[in-house]
Amino acid sequence: MAQYDFDLFTIGAGSGGVRASRVSAGYGAKVAVAEERYLGGTCVNVGCIPKKLLMYASHFSEDFEDAAGFGWTVGERRVDWATLIAHKDKEIMRLNGVYRKLLQESGVTIIENHVEIIDPHTVVVDGRRIAAKYILVAVGSWPVVPKIPGSEHAITSNEAFYLPKLPRKVIIVGGGYVGVEFAGIFHGLGVEVTQLYRGPLFLRGFDDDCRKTLAEEMRKRGVDLRFNTDVESIEKVGSGLRATLTGGMEVEVDQILYATGRVPNTGSLGLEKAGVEVKNDGAVVVDDFSKTNVDSIYAIGDCTDRLMLTPVAIAEGRAVGETLFNNNPMKPSYVNVPSAVFSTPNIGTVGLTETQARERYKTIDVYRTSFRPLKHTLTGRDENIMMKIIADQATDKVVGCHMVGPDAGEIIQGLAVAMNCGATKAQFDATIGIHPTGAEEFVTMRTKAGAS
Ligand code: NDP
Repeated sequence: MAQYDFDLFTIGAGSGGVRASRVSAGYGAKVAVAEERYLGGTCVNVGCIPKKLLMYASHFSEDFEDAAGFGWTVGERRVDWATLIAHKDKEIMRLNGVYRKLLQESGVTIIENHVEIIDPHTVVVDGRRIAAKYILVAVGSWPVVPKIPGSEHAITSNEAFYLPKLPRKVIIVGGGYVGVEFAGIFHGLGVEVTQLYRGPLFLRGFDDDCRKTLAEEMRKRGVDLRFNTDVESIEKVGSGLRATLTGGMEVEVDQILYATGRVPNTGSLGLEKAGVEVKNDGAVVVDDFSKTNVDSIYAIGDCTDRLMLTPVAIAEGRAVGETLFNNNPMKPSYVNVPSAVFSTPNIGTVGLTETQARERYKTIDVYRTSFRPLKHTLTGRDENIMMKIIADQATDKVVGCHMVGPDAGEIIQGLAVAMNCGATKAQFDATIGIHPTGAEEFVTMRTKAGAS
């Protein structure tokens, strides 16, 4: 019988890797996790958590304005970026410590170093060979900046979280999650924001009503959204940057943030030495149980190019632990995965978009509402909430719920549970609303916006 140093060797202590390691150790496996950068991975260090903290910070500007409608006098206000970043960093350090403690208390050995795989059961750390019965690749993803003249002057979300000072003017390139979230953050903090997207309307893949509503809301707030526009070149001018846009227009800004997607972080792992199949972009090919073509090597999270979402990586990590060490083969479910875009305002979404539902079902019912929230009757703010339900007409099952508005993510989470229980539109209607909330509209929408 082969002798291994560990039952499981996890590479990457992000959300997925940590969950897999702890679950496996909980079932008695001897586990090591290697991390070369930061405990907690992208989510904790340069992703979800700091992003949401900055989003909260950015929202105060609207809250101060809105306060006047409720009789408040708010004095002079300005944001101190250095303080905000210092507080954010302190919280991240605390979370790094929490992750360390969780791993230690689970009995997982932490190795803070780069690791290379040299065969299906062996990794090398600092010249030392370590044998493992199973290897789990959980190395996450990394932002990509397309090569254009001067692209080396651009930053990505990684650097945006640590800028030494708040820029006065920024260009954000890309119309995905990261782009719209940072547009809202910077704009709320008083930065002049121009966001560019190469296609006709950003957030490709989201429901069209969400895409259009968010664009309207962002423009109302003063974000300069330019679609069908890209950067052709960037040059340094003084302490700033000059971007030449499609069509030749030049714009001078302090920073140019590229939010043009992320690629699997598998480049220097040595996967090829173990014979692990990867796609052209470096994504590890896995089956439903997250197993690669090599029986002893599994992969989860962003580096597998399934859904780049923290809770999905966590579900995949748990499933690997159950499968390998609890004799409980488990496939994570990708049905009705809800998500939120922490733009200003937020988007919350679960299930099919209207376009996808029209392709999937013979006939669908669409219910849509757009209204001014109660709060803004006193503030005078011109903001609308958009909510939408899509149901399969044949079964009356709700197959999609979408929202643009404050706390959309908080609201959509519960609807995802209902949808996973197979809720019908009639059951939504039979549910008593909570009054007065925006969320109650999800159980009071009766008029069809259109059937096909
Ligand atoms: P996305 O893939 O979501 O968006 C990338 C954007 O950049 C798209 O608008 C894309 O356009 C555009 N783009 C891609 N390549 C180029 C190029 N060469 N030139 C110009 N534009 C280009 O990536 P993000 O970086 O925004 O986010 C990465 C992933 O991280 C997301 O997919 C998401 O899964 C996850 N994430 C989740 C969050 C959340 O849950 N709230 C928050 C942040 C990230 P096109 O659509 O035309 O391809």
